[in-house]
Amino acid sequence: MDDDRHDVIELSRRYITQQAELGGSEFFFQNANRSLKGSFSSQQDVCFWEESLICRRCRLAQTRKHIVWGEGNRNASLMLVGEAPGREEDLQGKPFVGQAGRLLNNILKAIGFERKEVYITNILKCRPPENRDPLPDEIKSCLPILEDQILRIGPKVILTLGRYAGQTLLMTADPLNRLRGKFHDRGGIPCRVTYHPAALLRNPQWKRPVWEDVQALRILYDQIVGDKPPWSPHEK
Ligand code: SF4
Repeated sequence: MDDDRHDVIELSRRYITQQAELGGSEFFFQNANRSLKGSFSSQQDVCFWEESLICRRCRLAQTRKHIVWGEGNRNASLMLVGEAPGREEDLQGKPFVGQAGRLLNNILKAIGFERKEVYITNILKCRPPENRDPLPDEIKSCLPILEDQILRIGPKVILTLGRYAGQTLLMTADPLNRLRGKFHDRGGIPCRVTYHPAALLRNPQWKRPVWEDVQALRILYDQIVGDKPPWSPHEK
């Protein structure tokens, strides 16, 4: 791991450790044997040690079954950010499972990615009851966790799925149809906004704009990262 990335990870670790020490009711370790000040020897430990944390920073802690931190390649160059876990995700503790998850897998496949190559997470890590929209204070409470994930994974490109993900990451209230169709600079990382797969299931007329967004994403990915076999778009 290079020095810069290690410094960022160390800063993140110190931040959450400090939060845990100051506000024990908000974060605490699931595994009592794990020391808050322990040294982390492997990259896996350093990168995702929050998986052994329990978070109670917002009201969603009272109704969730699982915290859905995220899933995938912890060194991914492409990161996908959705809105919040739904019923199936809450039950299984994994993001994007069920019908919307299968559609997302197919979208990724269409641009030459296996799901395991990318990292997938959400703005909120816990399910809002009845899949209601995220509330502003919930987004505010949960965002530091996503920021921390972005710092530690270090994606080269981000794809947001749905209105809340796009608006939150780009810090704007603009509607999704104004945000999509172009790349945004998100703290130095190119970010593309598109529709959520669950919305696509309800609105098949959005298939074409999503296809345009993900094609553009793959072309930019090749220009920036260039670690994949040649790919050429074909009509979907
Ligand atoms: S939604 Fe985020 S901030 Fe709220 S309890 Fe879950 S992990 Fe914590």
